[in-house]
Amino acid sequence: MRKIILFFVALSCTAGCVPRAPEREPGAEREITTEWEVRNIILMIADGAGVGAWTAAEYANDQLAVKRMPVVGLVDTRSALHKVTDSAAGASVYATGQRTVNRTISVGPAPLCPFPQANDPREWPNGCEPLTTWFEIARDRGRATGLVTTTFVMDATPAAFVAHSPSRYWPEEIAEQIAGFRLDVLLGGGARYFSADTRMDGRDVLGEMCENARCLATAEELNAYRPDQQPLVGLFASGDMDELEVRPVTLPAMVGAALARLDRHPSGFVAMFETEATDNSAHANAPLERVTADLLEFDQAVAVALEFASRNPGTLLIVTADHETGGFSLAETGNDFALKYTTHGHSAAMVPLFAFGPQSERFGGLRENYEIGQMLMEIVRAW
Ligand SMILES: [Zn+2]
Repeated sequence: MRKIILFFVALSCTAGCVPRAPEREPGAEREITTEWEVRNIILMIADGAGVGAWTAAEYANDQLAVKRMPVVGLVDTRSALHKVTDSAAGASVYATGQRTVNRTISVGPAPLCPFPQANDPREWPNGCEPLTTWFEIARDRGRATGLVTTTFVMDATPAAFVAHSPSRYWPEEIAEQIAGFRLDVLLGGGARYFSADTRMDGRDVLGEMCENARCLATAEELNAYRPDQQPLVGLFASGDMDELEVRPVTLPAMVGAALARLDRHPSGFVAMFETEATDNSAHANAPLERVTADLLEFDQAVAVALEFASRNPGTLLIVTADHETGGFSLAETGNDFALKYTTHGHSAAMVPLFAFGPQSERFGGLRENYEIGQMLMEIVRAW
Protein backbone atom coordinates (compact mmCIF):
# COMPACT_ATOMS: atom_id res chain seq x y z
CA MET A 1 0.00 0.00 0.00
CA ARG A 2 2.74 2.41 1.02
CA LYS A 3 4.67 1.72 -2.18
CA ILE A 4 1.62 2.49 -4.27
CA ILE A 5 1.16 5.82 -2.53
CA LEU A 6 4.81 6.73 -3.01
CA PHE A 7 4.55 5.84 -6.69
CA PHE A 8 1.46 8.01 -7.02
CA VAL A 9 3.19 10.93 -5.34
CA ALA A 10 6.13 10.54 -7.70
CA LEU A 11 3.85 10.58 -10.75
CA SER A 12 1.90 13.61 -9.62
CA CYS A 13 5.14 15.48 -9.12
CA THR A 14 6.26 15.68 -12.77
CA ALA A 15 5.53 19.35 -13.35
CA GLY A 16 6.56 22.31 -11.22
CA CYS A 17 8.18 20.13 -8.56
CA VAL A 18 11.59 20.89 -7.16
CA PRO A 19 13.37 17.55 -6.78
CA ARG A 20 14.66 17.01 -3.27
CA ALA A 21 18.23 16.04 -2.56
CA PRO A 22 18.14 12.33 -1.67
CA GLU A 23 20.08 12.77 1.60
CA ARG A 24 17.86 10.44 3.57
CA GLU A 25 14.47 9.23 2.57
CA PRO A 26 11.92 10.70 4.97
CA GLY A 27 10.39 7.99 7.09
CA ALA A 28 12.84 5.38 5.84
CA GLU A 29 13.52 4.13 9.37
CA ARG A 30 9.82 3.57 9.90
CA GLU A 31 9.49 1.31 6.89
CA ILE A 32 12.35 -0.86 8.03
CA THR A 33 11.15 -1.21 11.59
CA THR A 34 7.51 -2.07 10.85
CA GLU A 35 8.58 -5.36 9.31
CA TRP A 36 9.45 -6.71 12.75
CA GLU A 37 7.24 -8.07 15.48
CA VAL A 38 7.60 -6.38 18.85
CA ARG A 39 9.74 -8.71 20.94
CA ASN A 40 10.99 -6.27 23.55
CA ILE A 41 9.42 -3.13 24.99
CA ILE A 42 11.54 -0.44 26.64
CA LEU A 43 9.65 2.48 28.18
CA MET A 44 11.86 5.32 29.42
CA ILE A 45 10.45 8.04 31.64
CA ALA A 46 12.15 11.36 32.38
CA ASP A 47 9.98 12.25 35.34
CA GLY A 48 8.64 15.78 35.05
CA ALA A 49 10.50 16.61 31.82
CA GLY A 50 8.28 18.57 29.46
CA VAL A 51 8.94 20.37 26.20
CA GLY A 52 10.71 23.20 28.07
CA ALA A 53 13.27 20.90 29.70
CA TRP A 54 13.90 19.09 26.42
CA THR A 55 14.37 22.47 24.72
CA ALA A 56 17.02 23.39 27.29
CA ALA A 57 18.73 20.03 26.74
CA GLU A 58 18.66 20.54 22.98
CA TYR A 59 20.32 23.95 23.30
CA ALA A 60 22.99 22.36 25.49
CA ASN A 61 23.59 19.46 23.09
CA ASP A 62 22.29 19.44 19.54
CA GLN A 63 23.28 15.78 19.19
CA LEU A 64 20.65 14.41 21.58
CA ALA A 65 19.99 10.69 21.27
CA VAL A 66 16.24 11.31 21.11
CA LYS A 67 16.81 13.15 17.83
CA ARG A 68 17.56 9.77 16.28
CA MET A 69 14.06 8.55 17.14
CA PRO A 70 11.89 9.07 14.05
CA VAL A 71 8.47 9.20 15.71
CA VAL A 72 7.57 12.18 17.90
CA GLY A 73 4.35 12.92 19.71
CA LEU A 74 2.79 14.85 22.55
CA VAL A 75 0.98 13.36 25.52
CA ASP A 76 -1.90 14.82 27.51
CA THR A 77 -1.02 13.71 31.06
CA ARG A 78 -4.18 14.36 33.10
CA SER A 79 -5.37 11.79 35.65
CA ALA A 80 -8.83 10.48 36.62
CA LEU A 81 -9.88 13.29 38.96
CA HIS A 82 -7.17 15.89 38.56
CA LYS A 83 -6.24 18.02 35.57
CA VAL A 84 -2.67 17.87 36.86
CA THR A 85 -1.38 14.40 37.62
CA ASP A 86 1.19 13.23 40.14
CA SER A 87 3.79 10.56 39.41
CA ALA A 88 1.64 7.75 40.85
CA ALA A 89 -1.32 8.28 38.52
CA GLY A 90 1.06 9.42 35.78
CA ALA A 91 2.81 6.03 35.77
CA SER A 92 -0.27 3.92 36.57
CA VAL A 93 -1.94 5.06 33.37
CA TYR A 94 1.07 4.00 31.31
CA ALA A 95 1.21 0.66 33.17
CA THR A 96 -2.50 -0.20 32.97
CA GLY A 97 -4.04 1.87 30.18
CA GLN A 98 -6.51 3.38 32.64
CA ARG A 99 -6.53 6.80 34.28
CA THR A 100 -6.38 6.48 38.06
CA VAL A 101 -6.60 8.84 41.02
CA ASN A 102 -3.51 10.83 42.03
CA ARG A 103 -1.32 9.18 44.70
CA THR A 104 -2.74 5.71 43.93
CA ILE A 105 -0.63 2.93 42.42
CA SER A 106 -2.34 0.93 39.63
CA VAL A 107 -5.71 0.52 41.35
CA GLY A 108 -9.25 1.20 40.19
CA PRO A 109 -11.97 1.88 39.37
CA ALA A 110 -11.25 5.53 40.07
CA PRO A 111 -14.62 6.31 41.76
CA LEU A 112 -13.93 3.63 44.39
CA CYS A 113 -10.31 4.58 45.09
CA PRO A 114 -10.34 7.88 47.01
CA PHE A 115 -7.50 10.42 46.86
CA PRO A 116 -5.29 9.25 49.77
CA GLN A 117 -3.62 11.33 52.47
CA ALA A 118 -0.17 10.45 53.79
CA ASN A 119 -1.43 9.45 57.24
CA ASP A 120 -4.54 7.49 56.19
CA PRO A 121 -4.97 4.10 57.89
CA ARG A 122 -3.45 1.22 55.89
CA GLU A 123 -6.70 -0.24 54.69
CA TRP A 124 -7.89 -0.93 51.15
CA PRO A 125 -11.07 1.09 50.42
CA ASN A 126 -14.08 -1.08 49.59
CA GLY A 127 -14.24 -1.95 45.91
CA CYS A 128 -10.81 -0.48 45.11
CA GLU A 129 -8.94 -3.29 43.33
CA PRO A 130 -5.62 -3.91 41.55
CA LEU A 131 -5.59 -3.07 37.82
CA THR A 132 -3.65 -5.50 35.64
CA THR A 133 -0.40 -4.11 34.23
CA TRP A 134 1.30 -5.17 31.01
CA PHE A 135 4.35 -6.02 33.11
CA GLU A 136 2.24 -8.70 34.85
CA ILE A 137 0.91 -10.08 31.58
CA ALA A 138 4.40 -10.13 30.05
CA ARG A 139 5.82 -11.97 33.08
CA ASP A 140 2.96 -14.50 33.04
CA ARG A 141 3.65 -15.14 29.34
CA GLY A 142 7.30 -15.92 29.98
CA ARG A 143 8.94 -12.62 29.12
CA ALA A 144 11.64 -11.10 31.30
CA THR A 145 10.87 -7.93 33.24
CA GLY A 146 13.11 -5.11 34.40
CA LEU A 147 12.92 -1.85 36.35
CA VAL A 148 15.66 0.75 36.68
CA THR A 149 15.40 4.09 38.45
CA THR A 150 17.53 6.78 40.03
CA THR A 151 15.18 6.97 43.00
CA PHE A 152 13.70 4.51 45.50
CA VAL A 153 12.66 1.42 43.53
CA MET A 154 9.33 1.45 45.35
CA ASP A 155 8.69 5.09 44.48
CA ALA A 156 5.51 5.80 42.52
CA THR A 157 6.84 5.56 38.97
CA PRO A 158 8.53 2.14 39.10
CA ALA A 159 5.99 0.76 41.59
CA ALA A 160 3.04 1.36 39.24
CA PHE A 161 4.29 -1.32 36.83
CA VAL A 162 4.62 -4.16 39.33
CA ALA A 163 2.65 -3.24 42.47
CA HIS A 164 -0.81 -2.11 43.49
CA SER A 165 -1.61 0.19 46.37
CA PRO A 166 -4.49 2.55 47.16
CA SER A 167 -1.79 4.89 48.50
CA ARG A 168 1.73 5.69 47.34
CA TYR A 169 2.63 6.26 51.00
CA TRP A 170 2.89 2.56 51.94
CA PRO A 171 6.56 2.00 51.05
CA GLU A 172 7.09 -1.23 53.02
CA GLU A 173 4.05 -2.94 51.50
CA ILE A 174 5.05 -1.77 48.04
CA ALA A 175 8.61 -3.04 48.60
CA GLU A 176 7.20 -6.48 49.50
CA GLN A 177 5.13 -6.52 46.33
CA ILE A 178 8.15 -5.56 44.22
CA ALA A 179 10.14 -8.40 45.81
CA GLY A 180 7.22 -10.77 45.22
CA PHE A 181 6.97 -9.85 41.52
CA ARG A 182 10.26 -11.67 40.81
CA LEU A 183 11.65 -9.15 38.38
CA ASP A 184 14.62 -10.25 36.30
CA VAL A 185 16.23 -6.84 36.83
CA LEU A 186 15.70 -4.37 39.66
CA LEU A 187 18.19 -1.49 39.94
CA GLY A 188 17.91 1.73 41.92
CA GLY A 189 17.83 3.05 45.47
CA GLY A 190 15.65 2.59 48.53
CA ALA A 191 17.43 -0.31 50.29
CA ARG A 192 16.11 0.93 53.62
CA TYR A 193 12.61 -0.34 52.80
CA PHE A 194 13.95 -3.81 52.01
CA SER A 195 16.46 -4.27 54.81
CA ALA A 196 15.59 -5.92 58.14
CA ASP A 197 17.65 -3.27 60.00
CA THR A 198 15.57 -0.37 58.77
CA ARG A 199 12.10 -1.77 58.07
CA MET A 200 9.46 -1.08 60.71
CA ASP A 201 8.44 -4.76 60.73
CA GLY A 202 12.03 -6.05 60.81
CA ARG A 203 11.43 -8.34 57.84
CA ASP A 204 14.52 -9.07 55.75
CA VAL A 205 12.97 -8.55 52.31
CA LEU A 206 16.38 -7.89 50.74
CA GLY A 207 17.75 -11.14 52.13
CA GLU A 208 14.74 -13.03 50.76
CA MET A 209 15.28 -11.49 47.31
CA CYS A 210 18.99 -12.23 47.35
CA GLU A 211 18.46 -15.94 48.00
CA ASN A 212 17.49 -16.29 44.35
CA ALA A 213 19.25 -13.34 42.72
CA ARG A 214 22.63 -11.77 42.04
CA CYS A 215 22.59 -8.86 44.49
CA LEU A 216 24.84 -5.85 43.98
CA ALA A 217 25.31 -2.83 46.21
CA THR A 218 28.21 -0.80 44.79
CA ALA A 219 29.37 0.81 41.56
CA GLU A 220 32.37 -1.55 41.50
CA GLU A 221 30.06 -4.55 41.59
CA LEU A 222 27.93 -3.06 38.84
CA ASN A 223 30.99 -2.40 36.65
CA ALA A 224 32.20 -5.96 37.18
CA TYR A 225 28.77 -7.46 36.52
CA ARG A 226 28.58 -10.16 33.84
CA PRO A 227 25.06 -11.36 33.11
CA ASP A 228 24.04 -14.91 33.95
CA GLN A 229 20.66 -16.61 34.28
CA GLN A 230 20.00 -15.28 37.78
CA PRO A 231 17.84 -12.24 38.38
CA LEU A 232 19.87 -9.05 38.92
CA VAL A 233 19.07 -6.94 41.99
CA GLY A 234 21.06 -3.80 42.76
CA LEU A 235 20.06 -1.41 45.51
CA PHE A 236 22.85 1.13 45.54
CA ALA A 237 21.56 3.59 48.13
CA SER A 238 19.55 3.53 51.31
CA GLY A 239 17.33 6.31 49.95
CA ASP A 240 17.14 7.95 46.55
CA MET A 241 20.10 8.68 44.24
CA ASP A 242 18.77 11.72 42.48
CA GLU A 243 21.68 14.10 43.02
CA LEU A 244 23.79 13.55 39.97
CA GLU A 245 27.12 14.51 41.55
CA VAL A 246 26.81 12.12 44.48
CA ARG A 247 24.97 9.32 42.75
CA PRO A 248 26.86 6.08 43.38
CA VAL A 249 25.96 4.66 39.94
CA THR A 250 24.96 6.39 36.71
CA LEU A 251 21.72 5.77 34.87
CA PRO A 252 23.49 4.79 31.62
CA ALA A 253 25.55 2.20 33.56
CA MET A 254 22.42 0.75 35.17
CA VAL A 255 20.58 0.68 31.83
CA GLY A 256 23.55 -1.02 30.18
CA ALA A 257 23.69 -3.74 32.85
CA ALA A 258 19.90 -4.17 32.75
CA LEU A 259 19.86 -4.64 28.98
CA ALA A 260 22.77 -7.08 29.12
CA ARG A 261 20.82 -9.21 31.59
CA LEU A 262 17.43 -8.88 29.87
CA ASP A 263 18.99 -9.75 26.51
CA ARG A 264 19.89 -13.18 27.93
CA HIS A 265 16.23 -14.07 28.09
CA PRO A 266 15.25 -16.28 25.14
CA SER A 267 11.74 -14.89 24.58
CA GLY A 268 12.09 -11.13 24.98
CA PHE A 269 11.38 -8.64 27.74
CA VAL A 270 9.61 -5.54 28.97
CA ALA A 271 11.49 -2.81 30.83
CA MET A 272 10.95 0.61 32.36
CA PHE A 273 13.92 2.91 32.94
CA GLU A 274 13.37 6.16 34.84
CA THR A 275 15.20 9.24 35.98
CA GLU A 276 13.59 11.03 38.88
CA ALA A 277 16.32 13.67 38.98
CA THR A 278 14.56 15.82 36.39
CA ASP A 279 11.42 16.00 38.55
CA ASN A 280 13.34 16.73 41.76
CA SER A 281 15.31 19.57 40.16
CA ALA A 282 12.20 21.19 38.75
CA HIS A 283 10.35 20.86 42.09
CA ALA A 284 13.28 22.71 43.65
CA ASN A 285 13.16 25.30 40.83
CA ALA A 286 16.84 24.53 40.33
CA PRO A 287 19.05 26.54 37.92
CA LEU A 288 19.03 25.79 34.22
CA GLU A 289 22.39 23.96 34.33
CA ARG A 290 21.07 21.55 36.97
CA VAL A 291 17.97 20.49 35.04
CA THR A 292 19.92 20.34 31.80
CA ALA A 293 22.59 18.08 33.32
CA ASP A 294 19.91 15.75 34.70
CA LEU A 295 18.19 15.46 31.34
CA LEU A 296 21.46 15.06 29.43
CA GLU A 297 22.35 12.12 31.68
CA PHE A 298 18.96 10.62 30.90
CA ASP A 299 19.58 11.18 27.19
CA GLN A 300 22.85 9.25 27.52
CA ALA A 301 20.82 6.39 28.93
CA VAL A 302 18.48 6.74 25.93
CA ALA A 303 21.57 6.41 23.71
CA VAL A 304 22.38 3.07 25.39
CA ALA A 305 18.82 1.83 24.86
CA LEU A 306 18.73 3.13 21.29
CA GLU A 307 21.96 1.34 20.48
CA PHE A 308 20.42 -1.87 21.84
CA ALA A 309 17.21 -1.29 19.86
CA SER A 310 19.19 -0.71 16.66
CA ARG A 311 20.98 -4.03 17.12
CA ASN A 312 17.76 -5.83 18.12
CA PRO A 313 15.14 -4.79 15.56
CA GLY A 314 12.24 -6.32 17.49
CA THR A 315 12.66 -3.66 20.17
CA LEU A 316 10.07 -0.93 20.63
CA LEU A 317 11.64 2.00 22.49
CA ILE A 318 9.43 4.76 23.87
CA VAL A 319 10.82 7.82 25.68
CA THR A 320 8.43 10.17 27.42
CA ALA A 321 7.44 11.69 30.78
CA ASP A 322 4.61 11.14 33.24
CA HIS A 323 3.93 14.88 33.54
CA GLU A 324 5.61 18.26 33.35
CA THR A 325 7.12 19.80 36.50
CA GLY A 326 7.79 23.45 37.26
CA GLY A 327 5.86 25.10 34.44
CA PHE A 328 9.30 25.44 32.89
CA SER A 329 9.71 28.27 30.40
CA LEU A 330 12.69 29.76 28.60
CA ALA A 331 11.87 33.44 28.50
CA GLU A 332 13.54 35.93 26.17
CA THR A 333 16.33 38.06 27.66
CA GLY A 334 17.96 40.01 24.84
CA ASN A 335 19.62 37.44 22.60
CA ASP A 336 19.61 34.80 25.33
CA PHE A 337 16.90 33.14 27.39
CA ALA A 338 16.40 32.70 31.11
CA LEU A 339 14.69 29.85 32.87
CA LYS A 340 11.45 30.88 34.57
CA TYR A 341 9.34 28.53 36.64
CA THR A 342 5.66 29.13 37.25
CA THR A 343 5.26 26.56 40.06
CA HIS A 344 7.13 24.32 42.49
CA GLY A 345 4.63 21.62 41.61
CA HIS A 346 3.53 19.87 38.45
CA SER A 347 1.75 21.46 35.50
CA ALA A 348 -0.79 20.28 32.93
CA ALA A 349 1.55 21.01 30.02
CA MET A 350 1.75 18.22 27.48
CA VAL A 351 4.96 16.20 27.43
CA PRO A 352 6.97 15.04 24.42
CA LEU A 353 7.12 11.40 23.37
CA PHE A 354 9.81 9.86 21.17
CA ALA A 355 9.48 6.38 19.69
CA PHE A 356 11.66 4.00 17.71
CA GLY A 357 11.13 0.48 16.45
CA PRO A 358 8.25 -1.75 15.42
CA GLN A 359 4.80 -0.18 15.84
CA SER A 360 6.41 3.12 16.89
CA GLU A 361 4.27 5.01 14.34
CA ARG A 362 1.21 4.29 16.45
CA PHE A 363 2.62 6.37 19.28
CA GLY A 364 3.11 9.55 17.25
CA GLY A 365 0.75 12.52 17.18
CA LEU A 366 -1.18 14.01 20.06
CA ARG A 367 -2.10 11.20 22.43
CA GLU A 368 -3.96 10.83 25.68
CA ASN A 369 -1.75 9.11 28.28
CA TYR A 370 -4.21 6.20 28.56
CA GLU A 371 -3.81 5.52 24.83
CA ILE A 372 -0.09 4.93 25.39
CA GLY A 373 -0.87 2.40 28.14
CA GLN A 374 -3.59 0.75 26.07
CA MET A 375 -1.39 0.35 23.01
CA LEU A 376 1.37 -1.23 25.11
CA MET A 377 -1.21 -3.48 26.75
CA GLU A 378 -2.48 -4.53 23.31
CA ILE A 379 1.00 -5.47 22.12
CA VAL A 380 1.68 -7.57 25.23
CA ARG A 381 -1.74 -9.25 25.14
CA ALA A 382 -0.94 -10.48 21.62
CA TRP A 383 2.13 -12.37 22.92
ZN1 LIG B 1 6.96 15.34 41.01
